[in-house]
Amino acid sequence: MKILVTGGTGYIGSHTCVELIESGYEVVIIDNLSNSKIEVVERIKEITGKDVKFYEGDCIDKSFLIKIFSKEKIDAVIHFAGFKAVGESVSNPLKYYRNNLDSTITLLEVMNEFNCKKLVFSSSATVYGKPKSLPIKETFPLSTTNPYGTTKLIIEGILRDLYNSDNNWSIAILRYFNPIGAHKSGLIGENPNDIPNNLMPYIVKVASKELECLNIFGNDYNTKDGTGVRDYIHVVDLAKGHIKAIEKILNENGIDAYNLGTGNGYSVLEIVNAFQKVNNVKVNYKIVERRKGDIDACYADPSYAKEKLGFKTKYGIEDMCIDAYNFAKKFKEDN
Ligand code: NAD
Ligand code: UDP
Repeated sequence: MKILVTGGTGYIGSHTCVELIESGYEVVIIDNLSNSKIEVVERIKEITGKDVKFYEGDCIDKSFLIKIFSKEKIDAVIHFAGFKAVGESVSNPLKYYRNNLDSTITLLEVMNEFNCKKLVFSSSATVYGKPKSLPIKETFPLSTTNPYGTTKLIIEGILRDLYNSDNNWSIAILRYFNPIGAHKSGLIGENPNDIPNNLMPYIVKVASKELECLNIFGNDYNTKDGTGVRDYIHVVDLAKGHIKAIEKILNENGIDAYNLGTGNGYSVLEIVNAFQKVNNVKVNYKIVERRKGDIDACYADPSYAKEKLGFKTKYGIEDMCIDAYNFAKKFKEDN
């Protein structure tokens, strides 16, 4: 079975390629390297000891996609390619609508032409907007608070329309909660070029003394200690969720959405404390104003993914903190 992975050199894509290869799938990656590095391909080969095909190019480029589909007999696609920075999507929405929507529509057109109708799509818990209650179930109403989230919601709608027009499609929409951590080898992980927006990469840079102090955005939320609560999921667990989703779409037609989270909510302070303890390192922090658009708490009800996909997470918060820091230290040594 040959799986095309768009955005396969990115953070979640690279971990998923490793899991796919280790589960016996052949993998073809396409990525335009707008937010990742070519070295990741060698890292995937090093971890798995297996070959992986890589094509540099853009999912918006139809002739490029046609070339790949003509050359490779693709059985299914996992579509990670897209931009993901919430703040940037607010200041530059057209960049997000152009890239995320155009790449997906072009990919779907080419898949249709080549009669390849099996797709796993990367959506996000952001499509639940401000949830009415917790934990979040897949059946909750959907809404968004930023253009990035809106691209995900629009694509979910496009995929449902596509399935309604042709029931031969088989589509799994995966709504990720907060992926953190890295592969145990320390060879692949999350490596933002700029100052990170997300909590864990920021903590890692403060612990490594590349940044001075973590700003904790508010301690007056309606949560256990006043800081924001999220459902952090180890990226390797998340990657394994894609194997379950691939098995599902290869075996039956249909369209469905699944939460990929642990079901546990951790506050910012809990994460900082766990990180300091397991890595024996200091993380300086101060409490600052709330970040605009943030919600108090967000965590999944993971029972539907467990029931329908057989998906269960294995790693806890300690592993996530150890593996994130291990990757950062190894990356620094190697560069
Ligand atoms: P990432 O930026 O590390 O990976 C995305 C990859 O896609 C990058 O390697 C980038 O170079 C590539 N890319 C972007 N546009 C492209 C295009 N037009 N053609 C070809 N390649 C292109 O991001 P990630 O964290 O691995 O996220 C993967 C997917 O999961 C994204 O769709 C993202 O929106 C979604 N997601 C991520 C998170 C998260 O917290 N990381 C949460 C929910 C959903
Ligand atoms: N957060 C923080 N300081 C940072 C980055 C994030 O206090 O520098 C908080 C943020 O307010 C939220 C949690 O950490 O409560 C997770 O934020 P992240 O941006 O990683 O994920 P998201 O908000 O998209 O769920």
